[in-house]
Amino acid sequence: MKDRAHILVVNCGSSSVKIELFQIAENSATDPLFIASGNAERLNSEKASCKIDSGEASAENSPQPGLNVEKAIRFIFSEFEKKNLFQANSLLAIGHRVVHGGTELTAPKILNDEEILIIKRNTKFAPLHNPANLLGISVCKSLYPEVTNVAVFDTGFHQTMPASAYTYAIPGDLSRKYDIRRFGFHGISHQYMLRETARFLSRKEQEVSLISIHLGNGASVCAIQNGKSIDTSMGFTPLEGLVMGTRCGDIDPAISLFLLQNESMSVSELGSLLNKNSGLNALAGTNDMRDILERAANQEDAAILARDIFCYRVKKYVGSYLAAIRKPDAIVFTAGIGENSSEIRALVLQNLEHLGIEFDQSLNTEKNSATREISAANSRIKVLVIPTDEEKMIAIQTRNLLGFTH
Ligand code: ADP
Repeated sequence: MKDRAHILVVNCGSSSVKIELFQIAENSATDPLFIASGNAERLNSEKASCKIDSGEASAENSPQPGLNVEKAIRFIFSEFEKKNLFQANSLLAIGHRVVHGGTELTAPKILNDEEILIIKRNTKFAPLHNPANLLGISVCKSLYPEVTNVAVFDTGFHQTMPASAYTYAIPGDLSRKYDIRRFGFHGISHQYMLRETARFLSRKEQEVSLISIHLGNGASVCAIQNGKSIDTSMGFTPLEGLVMGTRCGDIDPAISLFLLQNESMSVSELGSLLNKNSGLNALAGTNDMRDILERAANQEDAAILARDIFCYRVKKYVGSYLAAIRKPDAIVFTAGIGENSSEIRALVLQNLEHLGIEFDQSLNTEKNSATREISAANSRIKVLVIPTDEEKMIAIQTRNLLGFTH
């Protein structure tokens, strides 16, 4: 095994752990090569399970009731080692997805005490995510004390937004006191869209402008001007913007005040209502877009309305970002819904010809899971579908930060 040829990517949630192992190529223009993944879900419950996939014919998914985050990380690493996929001394680094870097941690960083302290401080902005990320970091540090840990931030890519895009129109003394501003999320995925779009167009990233549309269970749109995020739909928290699986997205903030005044509801119950019991879930009784589309095809009114509200909100953001970006080259769809649903893409894109966007329905509906163009030949703005790969992006950024040592 070559020295320092591997990067582990760790994405730790409060009840899930996703780990991927990559081999770094000799040539920096070549993408890191995926070797194996470990996915642990429903941690801290009786239904906890862990799946190891190392490209063998059958991935092993073992139920492990009571498995927690720490044990899951140890288990996945030991499975990788047992299969002789890497050894501690073949690791260049461990790259961690960290949700909130705040205003201080904008680019990928080697994790020393100071950076860890700042991530802890930013827990006030991401009370569920940052502690889970920190737990992953501390388990990795104790398992492989000699290996460098790097953090890549989901907020990082958006810290180039101008003040006119990130400032809320509330009294400045309160914004400053609590650091209330728009941060934006899904930055790792939007940055990957930039990278892949630039590759597809054979241009440098700083020469590419696009609208990146990430439609998964969480969903956001990002306006990228000459390789930099200039606006994005999520804000101070991921609640702002699009209608999502369980989040309401943009609503009149007075609705919150009205509900607090008129329903016997606590602040935390209101938080749950807006984050977990709203969005598609509230409109159609499920956050699964596949079910909604199937029911809409059977003419079910609630499903049709949920689908149409979802698409109309995306369309409105596309329109506003077409105005915000000087000369957009492309519109890019990604994530579970964006990559897989030609129907949602068509509803978002229909009637945008006057803005220079025309898609080709036969390309749109073609079964294809690779990066592809679905715009009509005469469309001024290209329309692309690009599978997201946040883990690969973290591996790339970790490698780029550390350079090559092997
Ligand atoms: P997460 O944000 O949890 O990573 P994903 O990116 O996996 O979410 O996206 C999940 C969403 O993608 C779900 O609403 C799911 O129904 C939807 N989805 C997956 N495949 C399809 C498909 N073929 N058609 C429509 N929606 C799909």
